[in-house]
Amino acid sequence: MSGQDKIIFDKVCLIGIGLIGSSMAHAMRAQGLAKTISIYDIDPAARDVARELNLGHAVCDNVEAAVTDADLTVVCVPAGAVADLAPELAKHLKPGSIVSDVGSVKQAVVRDLGPHVPDKVHFIPGHPIAGTEHSGPRAGFATLFEGRWCILTPLPGTDPKAVEQLQHLWEGMGSQVELMEPGHHDQVLAITSHLPHLIAYTIVGTATGLEESTQSEVIKFSASGFRDFTRIAASDPIMWRDVFLNNRDAVLEMLGRFTEDLTALQRAIRWGEGEKLQEWFTRTRAIRRSIIDAKQA
Ligand code: NAP
Repeated sequence: MSGQDKIIFDKVCLIGIGLIGSSMAHAMRAQGLAKTISIYDIDPAARDVARELNLGHAVCDNVEAAVTDADLTVVCVPAGAVADLAPELAKHLKPGSIVSDVGSVKQAVVRDLGPHVPDKVHFIPGHPIAGTEHSGPRAGFATLFEGRWCILTPLPGTDPKAVEQLQHLWEGMGSQVELMEPGHHDQVLAITSHLPHLIAYTIVGTATGLEESTQSEVIKFSASGFRDFTRIAASDPIMWRDVFLNNRDAVLEMLGRFTEDLTALQRAIRWGEGEKLQEWFTRTRAIRRSIIDAKQA
């Protein structure tokens, strides 16, 4: 296949050039999936880095210049920034083009961006299940999405051809694509991603609240389990603040279930119910095996 044959969109516009936006730029360039890539970020320093790293063909100083004539516009900003961005962005979307996003919560983007999207533009929210604890335009890399799922949550009535075209782009960047209803996405991610982050933030916060002498030992012996939580708890504070504020109901529902289970385990420890603990830990070990088998470890 020649470079030309792989092109899926003539012009792709990335709004927000942090970890996810810059990884998309790297991946699309590496695979030759877009003829041109235009970029806008609200942070002038991020725009400078995007120019320095040659992430796009044009790094623009305003939304209009970046979005105009784009066949695909992907919003790659924190969930809390979408509502303010939406009216300006929507004004410049080309009729017949696709607007998507990469946000970790899907009902919120349907609420904040959806009403602004003109009739003739295809609105297809998306979420790559791939990331690291790093942020900013220097954090991105071309293989971030390889072997990872990308969930698309098109609304009823969306043109299937537009969905297919966006799906091809994600597949071109190495992802497998699954379609889902936005509310279902938010429930699934509440337990697989949002609650684990909340637990990590809690444990690491609790440890930092310990007395100074214990704190130094927490660091010294961190390889015993604590270290893995610190990686997750080092994730971007703004992004995660916005995830919890925008997926409140699903997170609170999962947190309620989690708290009940935690209390049950607490009880089992208090009453010396070893069998109960062993049975629980055996069940969870099997989940780890299925994740490894699914190549998502
Ligand atoms: P990031 O590295 O922090 O980058 C976000 C960039 O967007 C920043 O440069 C930010 O500038 C800029 N920005 C904020 N408001 C903007 C606006 N109105 N217009 C243009 N640019 C704006 O974030 P990220 O990790 O790439 O995350 C982006 C999105 O992807 C989030 O919605 C997140 O939920 C989702 N996501 C993240 C991961 C992950 O692991 N990180 C995984 C999957 C999905 P300032 O710094 O000046 O605000």
